[in-house]
Amino acid sequence: MIDLLSLAQQDMEALATANGFPKFRGKQLYEWCHKKEIFDYGAMTNLSRDFIAFLKANTVINRGELLTVTSSGKEDALKFLLRFDGALIETVLMRYHPKSGGERNTLCISTQAGCAMGCKFCATAKNGLSRNLTTGEIIDQVNFANAYLRQNNGESVSNVVYMGMGEPLANYDAVWKSIGILNDAKNIGMRRITVSTCGLVPAIDRLAEERSQLTLAVSLHSANDALRRQLMPIAKKYPLPQLMEALNRYMAMTKRRVTIEYALFDRVNDGEKDARELALLLKRQGFHVNLIPGNPVAETDLKTSSKQHIAAFAAVLKEHNIETSIRESRGQDVEGACGQLRAKYTNS
Ligand code: SF4
Repeated sequence: MIDLLSLAQQDMEALATANGFPKFRGKQLYEWCHKKEIFDYGAMTNLSRDFIAFLKANTVINRGELLTVTSSGKEDALKFLLRFDGALIETVLMRYHPKSGGERNTLCISTQAGCAMGCKFCATAKNGLSRNLTTGEIIDQVNFANAYLRQNNGESVSNVVYMGMGEPLANYDAVWKSIGILNDAKNIGMRRITVSTCGLVPAIDRLAEERSQLTLAVSLHSANDALRRQLMPIAKKYPLPQLMEALNRYMAMTKRRVTIEYALFDRVNDGEKDARELALLLKRQGFHVNLIPGNPVAETDLKTSSKQHIAAFAAVLKEHNIETSIRESRGQDVEGACGQLRAKYTNS
């Protein structure tokens, strides 16, 4: 059976025409599934009876199951626990209100069940990779958040960050297709979409070829290859010189600035020497650095940096004219999914 949620508009049009229906039926179907978020064939009122019969016989709308929604005290962060064909997935919604500097509903979505990358600070890494999520499963996380927001205040998801469970660029095709659907059907501009990677060089080059306006964020966490290898095994495969060359190629091709994510752990990567190494690595290349209070993960010796260490680290970067921000912590009562997410949005 074909899963409609995994199909882009041209796929649905091709499905219609290949089965003897006019092309516009595909477009109508796409609008129901991805724009109006109606998942009941019977409610798709402008489709012909024979097309609906065909859809019922040959396709499914493969929705996940919403198990729980956990909210932080102030409801500024909500974690959705979803199940897709046996895989448990976490999706986190951060709600930014006008008084906190903008009206945004940012959804942090997962792209894989588990992850093969093995980052030392990450809870998701512990059990390895179960499987890639499909385009439909990625998109459905947005459907659930939109349904929640619609019901509560009539809003919808305005920004999406691919920073949940999994390495997005290791599931490239499904992720790229989902980005197209978000942008086209769910009204989320490319500049409101961020894809975060641990540094898969060939996939960064592939993404550069798309010449899209999305924001690429790269988890660096150290400017020292030996330390980075300890924190992130992917650095053995793609050492820093190779990664930095790929990022420069990316910026040259897309004319978009890359964000460097740097989670700070007490006395591991948060000293003045570490900051100077980072400043040297990034100087005069136009990166933006996000400093994130690293979140302690059970069974590791990684502890959160103090506010003073983080401020001193930022001061060194600013001294070198590197644009730096310290990431606001969100959802202290909600445990996020990925190590990066946990670090960003929990435990200030
Ligand atoms: S931090 Fe991200 S890339 Fe690294 S293991 Fe966790 S989910 Fe995978």
